[in-house]
This record gives sequence, C-alpha cells and structure tokens, in this order.
Amino acid sequence: MTRPARALIDLGALRHNYQLARRLQGGRALAVIKANAYGHGATRCAMALADIADGYAVAFAQEAIELRASGISGPILLLEGCFDDDELLQAQQLGLWIVVHQSEQISMIERLRLTPRSLTVWLKINTGMHRAGFDPAEVKAAHARLKNCGSVDSITHMTHFARSDEPDHDATTQQLHTFDQTVAGLPGEQSVANSGAVLAWPGARRDWARPGIVLYGADPMPGESSGLVPVMSLQSRIFNVRMLQSGDALGYGATFIADKPTRVGLVAIGYADGYPRSAPTGTPVMIDGRLSRTIGRVSMDMMTVDLTDLPQTGVGSEVELWGRNISVNRVAQAAGTISYELLCNVKRVPRVYTNETP
Ligand SMILES: *Cc1c(COP(=O)(O)O)cnc(C)c1O
Repeated sequence: MTRPARALIDLGALRHNYQLARRLQGGRALAVIKANAYGHGATRCAMALADIADGYAVAFAQEAIELRASGISGPILLLEGCFDDDELLQAQQLGLWIVVHQSEQISMIERLRLTPRSLTVWLKINTGMHRAGFDPAEVKAAHARLKNCGSVDSITHMTHFARSDEPDHDATTQQLHTFDQTVAGLPGEQSVANSGAVLAWPGARRDWARPGIVLYGADPMPGESSGLVPVMSLQSRIFNVRMLQSGDALGYGATFIADKPTRVGLVAIGYADGYPRSAPTGTPVMIDGRLSRTIGRVSMDMMTVDLTDLPQTGVGSEVELWGRNISVNRVAQAAGTISYELLCNVKRVPRVYTNETP
C-alpha cells in the first residue's frame, strides 16, 4: 500500500469560483496563480481555466516561464515586475505583461530600446499600503516616461489594498479615494480589487480584478457565506490505533496527557506535508465523515487524532485535514495563521485532480 496522504484538487470548483469572482467584479479578472496556484499546481489550474479566464497573474518571471513552457498562451501579468534586464527581455519575448512599481524598472525599459509598442505595463501606485508602488505625486511623471519611451503599448493603473478583508474599514475607502484622485485625467484601464475587494467592495470594481484566494474557495473573511467551494481537500488515512491509559503522555514534548482511557489514531501526514505544526490539541479533523480533533503535537510525517468517541473508526479510516467539511480557515485560525499560508505550504503529498472537464 502506498502512503495515503494526498491533496484532492477539484478543478470544477476552481472554475466555479473563478466565474463567481468574475460575476461579482462585473468585468474581466486575472486569475492569480502565483506560488504554484497557492499550492494547487499552477499549470493544471491554468489549463482548467484556459477557456474562461481573461488572463493570469503570477509573482515573477520564472513562474510565468514555466506556464508558457507548458503551453499556457493567455496573458500573464508579473505582479512584481522584472528584476533585471534579462528578465525584461525574456518577458517581452514571451509576451508577458509586467507591473512597473519603481523608477529603476522604467529605466530598464528605457535602456533596452525594445520593439516599439511591444510592452503591456501595469503601473502600480502606492495608495496607502506603503510596500511597493509609486507615490501619488510621482505617478504623472512615471506615466509620461513610460508613454515616451516608445516600447510601451498600454498602461493600466493599479493599486493594492492592505485591509480589503475588513468590510467597511476606512482604510480601503481612503485608498480608493487616493487612487481615483491620482489617476484622474490619465488615460488607461484600471485594476484595484483583490479577493477581499471582489467580495466586499463594490466600489472597487474596475476594468480588471485580481482574485487569488477566492479562486481556491477560501473566504478571506471567514464566516461570511460567499458561495465559494473549497478546491483542495487535504486527506490521509489512519494507519495505526492505540489505547492510552489515564496518565499516558502522547508524542513529542508530551503536550497531551490522557486524563481517561483514550483511543488514539495515527494519521499518515505531518508538517513536512504542510499540515501546520502550530495546530494545537483540539484542532478539528473529519474522520470517516465524523468530526473529531487532533491530540498531541503534529510530527514531521504523522499526527495523532482522538478516536475515543468514534468506535466505528480504525485502521484505514479516511481523515480530512481540510476541505469541504473542515474549512481551511478553521485550521488556520487554530494554528495562528491564514488560509493562504497553509495552502501554499502543501508539499510532498501527491496532488490528485478531479472534475477536469466541465
Ligand atoms: C497576491 C496578489 C493578489 C491576490 O490577492 P488575494 O488576496 O489572494 O486575492 C492581487 N493583487 C496583487 C498585487 C497580489 O500580489
């Protein structure tokens, strides 16, 4: 028997979520598939969306090069833009769209004298997140430099929200206001909405949205009922069962000590597969369709769950770590992190794709 740990990836759910995001946005949407599609496998996800997506976004050139090498031909935006001249040349040759967020990236374009009008540029504006992007006062000059260098075909104005997952928070209203003031009078399409904004900020609907986490069915605002369907189901099986007597300690660090006879199931998955070691005793798991909990510390290759109240379960029982029943958000919350990090960290387990064709 091979080790039963696996990540089931429901490509039909991915398509459903993309279409939902696109409908909410009311315009075009780049499917954000950076970081190997948040752990779901970028090439397979891109292929599954090929006939419905307006384009894709990844973080940097190498991610896009791999997609092109696998035959993905639609628009691909590099969200961090190019890091050096070679990358810019390659991006141009592969027809990649590039974000320009700092002056040195414009200098690169000016220096290289590329084919006239061969570049599609997204000009990133810092409207309050203070991470990447031109400050509002610099935008007109940046726009003019891009326009005048000859190799830029079109300029889309973009910004990124720091707190769009907090409905009604002033910060997003202010960022939108700053954006609108900054680009007033400048020709070009616009893109502001990430997942949080697609769901919660109708005022952020522009020519292009950039949904990421919602494509994978994880709501950035846990608790809302958004109609999203989880794409990944992280699963394994129980491969050993043992009884603890009252007072027995379980696992590394003896963080769990039985206070009554306790039936323990050993699950073939651990933190080297991406299940968070920081998930404490009590984190929810589903075992043969019934709710239970983790007990003791998560190890590298295995973890332990409580079977005391599930006498019908045993060796071979199916365990869902997260998926349709156990929300990845609940596990993330228990582990002190966010769904994004858990999903990106999934590794070593085989990915098994389902519902490939609509
Ligand atoms: C990652 C990223 C997104 C997608 O964010 P989600 O919260 O996953 O929707 C959108 N825009 C930019 C610039 C990003 O870096």
